[in-house]
Parts: sequence; C-alpha cells; structure tokens
Amino acid sequence: MMKDNLEVIEQKIAEACIRSGRRRDEVTLIAVSKTKPNEMLQEAYNLGIRNFGENKVQELVGKYEALDAGFEEKVNWHMIGHLQRNKVKYIIDKVALIHSVDSVKLAEQIEKEAAKKNIIADILIEVNIAQEETKFGISADELLPLILNIASFEHIRIRGLMTIAPYVENPEKNSDYFKKMRQLYVDIKSKTIDNIYNKSILEDNALNWDKILDKFNILSMGMTGDYEVAIEEGATMVRIGTGIFGERDYSLT
Ligand SMILES: *Cc1c(COP(=O)(O)O)cnc(C)c1O
Repeated sequence: MMKDNLEVIEQKIAEACIRSGRRRDEVTLIAVSKTKPNEMLQEAYNLGIRNFGENKVQELVGKYEALDAGFEEKVNWHMIGHLQRNKVKYIIDKVALIHSVDSVKLAEQIEKEAAKKNIIADILIEVNIAQEETKFGISADELLPLILNIASFEHIRIRGLMTIAPYVENPEKNSDYFKKMRQLYVDIKSKTIDNIYNKSILEDNALNWDKILDKFNILSMGMTGDYEVAIEEGATMVRIGTGIFGERDYSLT
C-alpha cells in the first residue's frame, strides 16, 4: 500500500521534473508523518524515505527519540508546523530544517538556543503568499525586512522560503501563488528584490548579502494536492503526507 503510493508519487515527481526541464535530484521529497504511528515511519524508511516532516514539537521529539538512533542511514527531521518560542529548545539539535520561521522573535529564540548548543540552525522563512487569515507566515512585503534582521544572527542560516498554498480542488489554481513564491526566491538570490523594496534598506544592509546568499537554495512548497504544479513552478522540497500515508485520523492524537 505505502509502497504503491510512493511509486506513484515518485513517478509523478519524475514526470513533473521532466515537464519543467529540471533534474530529479533538484527536488527533495519530505514524507509528512504527523499523526502516523512509528511503525509507519519505519516502513517509509524501509522504502527509502530519508526526510520526515512533523508539525508538532512533542510528536516530533517522541518519534525522533523512538526511531532516529535505530535508523542506519541519516534521516532528516523537518519541523514544518507553527513553532512556539518556548519549545524551540526541544527540537533545535534534532531537526535538519525549521520551515516555519515567521517573526524576528522566533528567530531570536532559535539564535539563542542554537548558540547554547554551538550549532548553526538551518531555517526557511514561511510566507503566507495567499494572505489567508487562518494561516501563519509573513506577507511578501515583510520578507526582506525580516531576512535582513535575521541575517545578522550568527547561529542561523536562512536556507530559503516555504509556503502553504490554499486548499483547492484544482491544483492549477495554485500555480500563480507558486510562481509568486518562485519570484520572491529568485529576486532574493539575484538581489533584485530591491525592485519592490526601498533601495535604502538594501544599502544599509549591503554587507549582509554574502551571508544571506551563501546557502539560500530551498523553496519548500507543494503538498499532496498540488505538488506536481509546485515542482513545475520551481519547488525544491515537496511535503507530502496523505499521498504517502493515507488520510489522517486526528481523533488518535
Ligand atoms: C500536513 C502538512 C503537509 C502535508 O499535507 P498533505 O495534504 O497530507 O500532503 C504539508 N505541509 C504542512 C506544513 C503540513 O502541515
């Protein structure tokens, strides 16, 4: 069952890469295992999954502690859900990437905890590209100021951007949002983001660009319903839960 699911997804990812002239290794599949039991994560690992996404700190830590040491090959744990500042300390040395940074205050806490452990925390900035009221993430206008703020933190490396697109029946409806995300990502990479921002902000922070751009290479977007479109529009990480593990039963958690 999971094997078949993964084969279908792998096939579709490969096809979306071909359609958009991208290499398969430019796209990382994150298996979103929230609400699913440890046995299912082990099964996914056995089928080749090396990236797991969780959205709750306690659940992530529980699964990490139950499973990580037993995996022979390295597994990357991704924090993809809203992160409260007082919980940063529990995951800072366990996760490979925090996808959901959307405030300076959260970044300050990550900086503090990473400094304590003497590590560099890799993060993405979460953008609420459709400006949905129910979603976390900053607006496109807030992006550059936030990045420039975080760029001075020594124990944080901004690796790219993340978004959760609206839930839609027809995934093509999200293609404009994915395009906008890709544009923001490219603008930052090429430093042309000043076209939409006040130039003086950039001049004041001119020295930070080398650090910001050092490893800025991740665009995390696309879920079960829309990952093919997201890949066509430039996603480098897709986060797929239902498509791999089946529907979630929240009554169990
Ligand atoms: C749950 C979740 C996903 C996966 O959603 P599916 O539709 O089950 O693929 C992806 N990203 C985030 C942030 C999530 O919370």
